[in-house]
Amino acid sequence: MKDRFLEIMPNPVIVYNSEWKIIKINQPALQFLGYSSPDELLGESIQTLLPAGKTDLVDELNSLLQRAHKIHPGKEIQHVRKDGALVKLFAQFKISGVEKDPLKFNFVESGIIMGDGMEGHDQRLKELKCWKVLAENVPSLIMMLVDKNLHVHCSIGRGKNVVSDFEAESLVERLPGGLVKVLKPLLEIAFEGTSVSRELMHGREHYAARLTPLKHPEEGPLCVIVLQNITETKLAERRLKISKKEAEEANEAKSNFIAKMSHEIRTPLNAIIGFSEQLSKTRLTKKQTSFIEVVNNSSHHLLSTIDDILVLTKIESGQVEATEEPFRLADVLKAVNDVLELRYKSKNLDFQIQCDPDQQEVLLGDPAKLRQVLINLVNNAIKFTKKGGITLICSTQENNPERISLRFMVKDTGIGIAPDELESIFKPFHQADNSISRRYFGSGLGLTISKDLVESMGGNILVQSTLGKGSTFSFALTFKKTTKQLPERDYSCSFLPEAPVNHLRVLFVDDDPVNSLLVKVIFDQYKVKSVFASSGEEALNRFSSGDYNVILLDINMPGMSGIDVAQRIRKMENKYGLKSRTRIIAMTANILRKHIEEYYKAGMDDVLLKPFKEEHLLGKLVNHTFERMGERSDMAHSSRLEKTDPDDNLNELLKITKGNKEFTLLMLDAFIDNGKTMKKKIKASLKARDYRGIAESAHRLLASVEQLGFRKTADLLRLIERRYMKKKNIEEDPQLIKHAIREIDACIASIEKARIEFL
Ligand code: ADP
Repeated sequence: MKDRFLEIMPNPVIVYNSEWKIIKINQPALQFLGYSSPDELLGESIQTLLPAGKTDLVDELNSLLQRAHKIHPGKEIQHVRKDGALVKLFAQFKISGVEKDPLKFNFVESGIIMGDGMEGHDQRLKELKCWKVLAENVPSLIMMLVDKNLHVHCSIGRGKNVVSDFEAESLVERLPGGLVKVLKPLLEIAFEGTSVSRELMHGREHYAARLTPLKHPEEGPLCVIVLQNITETKLAERRLKISKKEAEEANEAKSNFIAKMSHEIRTPLNAIIGFSEQLSKTRLTKKQTSFIEVVNNSSHHLLSTIDDILVLTKIESGQVEATEEPFRLADVLKAVNDVLELRYKSKNLDFQIQCDPDQQEVLLGDPAKLRQVLINLVNNAIKFTKKGGITLICSTQENNPERISLRFMVKDTGIGIAPDELESIFKPFHQADNSISRRYFGSGLGLTISKDLVESMGGNILVQSTLGKGSTFSFALTFKKTTKQLPERDYSCSFLPEAPVNHLRVLFVDDDPVNSLLVKVIFDQYKVKSVFASSGEEALNRFSSGDYNVILLDINMPGMSGIDVAQRIRKMENKYGLKSRTRIIAMTANILRKHIEEYYKAGMDDVLLKPFKEEHLLGKLVNHTFERMGERSDMAHSSRLEKTDPDDNLNELLKITKGNKEFTLLMLDAFIDNGKTMKKKIKASLKARDYRGIAESAHRLLASVEQLGFRKTADLLRLIERRYMKKKNIEEDPQLIKHAIREIDACIASIEKARIEFL
């Protein structure tokens, strides 16, 4: 076998016996040293090949040999070619595996030729050296050269855990039987000339096998098998997978725990915030008012801390990914102002929004995240500024037909931040000055969250600040442009105290008596007609026997959940062919997006987050009233809410004119004229974005509409008047105005009909 090994080796190999006599030498070695036949060297002493007088080299080789049992030491040794030229050889020792003849060893060399004449040899030697080092240092690796009869021609590597009999000449004897069996089909492929790589299993052991075909001019097809036992790697991989899964599960458990805790804390907070709000409306002493204020502030602080922790948990567990949806910058900026208006006004601070890009253009991005970051930054600016003002600047950095890059800046004239604190303020729970938390409410999470959110949208937050002068936080984001339409749903929850809710019939479903009591107190004040149910089952009974405009439905109820109730109600509506769909608003303390999506899927129309304030609750009802009225006016005069019977309107007028025919006709004509003119004006103002013009026209129509008993249209006009009169820059709301125009048309048509009948 050893002879075959020598023959197959592409580089020179010389084998010595214990007396340093050459006993074997292969063809490349002869060629390398300039000899033509092995007979010229066989039986010769090593001295023949060493430079004259260099006996110390033999001592050196002997000392290498002493260590060859354990390791395979190697050293460059000068040799002499037959023509006298010096060549350097890399001498490496390998004791043959035969124990009873320990001094038999292989002197496997590789070397560097000094002189010339053997091109390409260097590279081959280097490759071989690499393979050898690899085979000898990876204990589980073995390389074998086999023929079609599974005869092993040579092998290198120790093959620990791979070979059963290292010395055997047949593959069948050398490897465990099962392994040969799985190797056989691969060998067939390799002998047809194709390399194969596979992972194999034998018992509990895993192997990586690579089979490479070789064509030998005399021997016919051969195959190099490289086999490695990779069981340990596989086990480690499996252990890693298990620990990864465990870590993910632990993380998920943490997130669920925090979400659940947040839910549990938010629910009673609803009662605290709600009742302290109700309490503050009653007659109180100064002291009591100040106590209520503390309760209110503290509960809001607690609420915002819980929200921050929840958002941070979501960010940490990778649940926060930037979404892409169409939005308008105007809506985001308006939301920032709406949320913070009370705060900056109560501190007498000036807040300005300077925006150079077109705010109406529809962009693709994550408006909720952008809004949250801007609210956090402006909120901080308000918090840390005593005098002066805050400016939110939005400027264009780059603009082309596909995308726009915007820079947002929040500048304040506040207390500023010390230079050595500038980096650490972005760390969780960090506040620039420890005394700050006592003076200003805050948890030190806002900036951490903002930084993460901006990064998730592809930007980076920067801060510049001068202590005592003010700070500027800025970031840049790029948004794609789109021709997509904005989604129609607008679930903003601005409460309009002027809007009527007393005509509404509401079914309120909640198992929590405290929450129900709170809502009852609010509904009584606003004369909302309401029915209360304390379970899903009761809600379904009430629904089937009553007629409601809106259902406020708690999600977490024992027994039948809010989701079940909503699904059943939708089924009942379909089954009985009910024309109008009752609005269902989910009430929940759950703010996870995936859960909220579930509610919509179950057939709900909107979500009211707990804890809610009175204005949020009523705001939701008002929003849905208007949506509902829009639907009904399309259903041509079948509205229960609007009085459209011309006789009724006429009776109202006759009461005023006391039956005077001429006067009545005059009034009717005046109404029709005025109605048509104002309608035109509203349309023109809407086109010109003249909001004050809209408000004025609505005002001028209001009195006559009300006099003729079109109460709902009057309410609508009053709402438009208030909305557009108060703010100069208010966002246009074509939905509301278009709806009003349809209502005005319906009133005119109704009066025209009454006029004909009156004549
Ligand atoms: P919080 O405001 O809840 O304390 P943040 O993470 O939002 O937490 O802010 C961390 C700290 O950074 C604040 O406590 C404050 O020291 C500092 N800081 C943030 N914004 C401003 C600002 N506009 N002016 C001065 N200091 C600020």
